Amino acid sequence: MTPDVRPLVAGNWKMNGTRESLTEIKAMAEGVQGALSEKVDALICPPATLLYVATALSTDSPLMIGGQDCHQDASGAHTGDISAEMIADCFGTYVIVGHSERRTDHAETDHLVRAKAQAAHAADLTAIICVGETAGERDAYQTLEVLKRQIFNSVPETATAANTVIAYEPVWAIGTGVTPTADDVEIAHAFMRAELTACLGEEGRRMRILYGGSVKPGNARELMSVENVDGALIGGASLKANDFLAIYRVY
Ligand code: PGA
Repeated sequence: MTPDVRPLVAGNWKMNGTRESLTEIKAMAEGVQGALSEKVDALICPPATLLYVATALSTDSPLMIGGQDCHQDASGAHTGDISAEMIADCFGTYVIVGHSERRTDHAETDHLVRAKAQAAHAADLTAIICVGETAGERDAYQTLEVLKRQIFNSVPETATAANTVIAYEPVWAIGTGVTPTADDVEIAHAFMRAELTACLGEEGRRMRILYGGSVKPGNARELMSVENVDGALIGGASLKANDFLAIYRVY
């Protein structure tokens, strides 16, 4: 945790979820009501097909809804893509950009991720910019170098603590059940904090840095208590309200 920083527990449903899954969104919207919502933010990023209904289901709840990706342009001839404005139009307030699955499956570069973050800001969305090393990069002791490059090239100068969140997701920890040690997470987050503060000053000092990659109810407490870890980006364990809420409640 970082002093004076409000944690964010965020779920990324990836390409999962049909209308049937809206019961989970409903249960999450109800489950995050109460005293804890005064100090911890909760967000679910369902697939684009469910965005509009998901925001309708959570209008009376502190649960926030976001997109999983956006195009860098506001509109135009880009078949299959959605813009940040479209997410905002569905009452979404956040968007994930630069997830490693996008970087791999769609060859997204740091510079494209930065353009997407700028598009998010232009649409008044908060951008969750994902960074993280691959297994090969970790084995070659390049983790901090990779994080430095990704932060330097993917985070726009216009980023503030209010409009940007960083998510550290080691690629080898995503969906594998394996996580880095608390010590490794601490080293990576302290490094990113120093980089962000050097680039953005006070905004960087207060910017939320989430940990993501195999976060589960069983390991969330340990990971969330690491210095400079200001919440979680959760994949698999965010699909069920019970698991998501169990992680939310570690705060
Ligand atoms: P996971 O995914 O929690 O299923 O490992 C995390 C993510 O990709 O955001």
